[in-house]
Amino acid sequence: MVGVRRGPRADLGDAATTGRFAEQRVKELRQLRFGASETKCQSCQQLYPASDLDRYLWCPNCRLAVRRRGAVWGRLVGVISSLGVGSYLYVRVQPSTRFLAIYVLILGLTYVLTSRIAVAVIQGYYRARGSVAETPPPESE
Ligand SMILES: [Zn+2]
Repeated sequence: MVGVRRGPRADLGDAATTGRFAEQRVKELRQLRFGASETKCQSCQQLYPASDLDRYLWCPNCRLAVRRRGAVWGRLVGVISSLGVGSYLYVRVQPSTRFLAIYVLILGLTYVLTSRIAVAVIQGYYRARGSVAETPPPESE
């Protein structure tokens, strides 16, 4: 049994394969539902194979764009809010070095939580708006 290891790592590999299969299956189901025809992306109005669009009928490029925009805003909001909390702690609480780890933990949690909220809000905003473009395309063709 040289070179064959069944353990946590092997299970991880299986999980990754399952994920890929699941993705492929979703594509097939979409092809059955929409046919192999091209469908307009609801965000940028360009034609894509229907199987490439997600459930909001957004193309991969627009999905990537909305994820990037969410990430940028998330970092910004996270840094600003943890700076705010940090300055409040510094001015009002005057942290002693004794509990430094706890203050660092508070700042880290502030960053993680507020940036996640910001990502969700920003992505939801663009999804609800129906487009990630600066000026959304007109409704009529
Ligand atoms: Zn698009």
